[in-house]
Amino acid sequence: MSAPVETTASGQPRTYQVRTFGCQMNVHDSERIAGLLEAAGYVRAAADATPDVVVFNTCAVRENADNRLYGNLGHLRPVKKAHAGMQIAVGGCLAQKDREEIIRRAPWVDVVFGTNNIGRLPVLLERARHNGEAQVEIAESLEVFPSTLPARRESFYSAWVSISVGCNNTCTFCIVPSLRGKETDRRPGDILAEVEALVADGVLEITLLGQNVNSYGVEFGDRQAFSKLLRACGGIEGLERVRFTSPHPRDFTPDVIAAMAETSNVCHQLHMPLQSGSDRILRAMRRSYRAERYLNILRQVREAMPDAAISTDIIVGFPGETEEDFQATLDVVRQARFAQAFTFQYSPRPGTPAASFPDQVPAEVVRERYQRLVALVEEITWEENKRLVGATVEVLVAVGEGRKDTSTGRMSGRARDGRLVHFSVPEGTTVRPGDVVHVEVTYAAPHHLVADGPLLSHRRTRAGDAWEAAQAAPAATGRPGGVMLGMPTVGPPVSAS
Ligand code: SF4
Repeated sequence: MSAPVETTASGQPRTYQVRTFGCQMNVHDSERIAGLLEAAGYVRAAADATPDVVVFNTCAVRENADNRLYGNLGHLRPVKKAHAGMQIAVGGCLAQKDREEIIRRAPWVDVVFGTNNIGRLPVLLERARHNGEAQVEIAESLEVFPSTLPARRESFYSAWVSISVGCNNTCTFCIVPSLRGKETDRRPGDILAEVEALVADGVLEITLLGQNVNSYGVEFGDRQAFSKLLRACGGIEGLERVRFTSPHPRDFTPDVIAAMAETSNVCHQLHMPLQSGSDRILRAMRRSYRAERYLNILRQVREAMPDAAISTDIIVGFPGETEEDFQATLDVVRQARFAQAFTFQYSPRPGTPAASFPDQVPAEVVRERYQRLVALVEEITWEENKRLVGATVEVLVAVGEGRKDTSTGRMSGRARDGRLVHFSVPEGTTVRPGDVVHVEVTYAAPHHLVADGPLLSHRRTRAGDAWEAAQAAPAATGRPGGVMLGMPTVGPPVSAS
């Protein structure tokens, strides 16, 4: 069945733009939103054109998320007035939380949809146009797994694959359980079929995505389902890199470490959220592991994979945090030797239990502790990076990061352990995003590595061919030929899992 084509009054296809806020889960959902709109006949708006439909995929986790949204909506109001037929849709976690409130505060919005029913967006847009009134539709539980919806992927070489949505934990700082609901697991066969299809399409790297990937399988009663999934990914020919985010220290089990170590295409990269090094604060956060358990997992991981790059999330200034608690966090950071840490200054999120805790830490104390934490993290990540000087690393050349810098002659990409590498490309050599190179690290900075020597190897890949084809004929491939977002392989966490 061919898709109905959404057209403007002049018969041109309606254009769209998706603006994404927040975590990787939202980035992934946005690919689905774009795919759905394209399946309904919309085309992506050119960068300098006013779109017929603007979709905001919002986040409720980050600070000031609502101010940012309403600020953006305010800016769009006169644009909409001047552009006949323009529609604005708001989806994502903030829409799930605020619902009708969005229309009340911004009555020029046409559609509000939630995290559980993104598949309804084209219908809601059409109905809003037809009825001439705003449509608000929020589903309380997941309608269809987002991965079953059409997608418009932003990268030729990398893809997200959802394995679960929602979360069964109740961390007191987190809004996810109330917005994304209980964990729903996707069947392994569906996940593997999607991975195989992506690989057939030229994808080299996948990231398995879930709020808590280690509890994957709880819904269908297999506690080892995640390690089995990793091992099954190992059997997919052509799949070169497998990553996942985010695990939870409570559910992280030895079978996952063994699967990581024994499956050759699973990258030795682990994003393991710590949140706090103080047992007292972990209890108040309702995180059921303790600092010693956390460090013990890291020891086991490094025993099995000495080259593992471990990253984390840390919240500073959670209610009730004393200097002693903060020192406990610094102590764990010293022992853990993270390759990267995403650090957050705590601020109350409406709708979370911790927002009403009485002993909120003054903002200036939070800020000061945060600066000390960042300084320590940087010192350690720099030292860890320096240990790699002289090592040979395999780099998957990135799209967004892969443009050649004319002043340095360098391109960029990610090593297998997720580190960002800037490498020199000799005059006359063409390296494409999606290609794979080997280089020797010549310099280390706190957040990246530099490789200014010769290319030790360069493998042209199908993903690189696809990127090159898109440059020549973007319309034919259906993908933009210019700047696209590369997927950050070490990026901000899915949530604060
Ligand atoms: S922080 Fe992570 S584990 Fe905790 S409730 Fe939120 S999504 Fe679940």
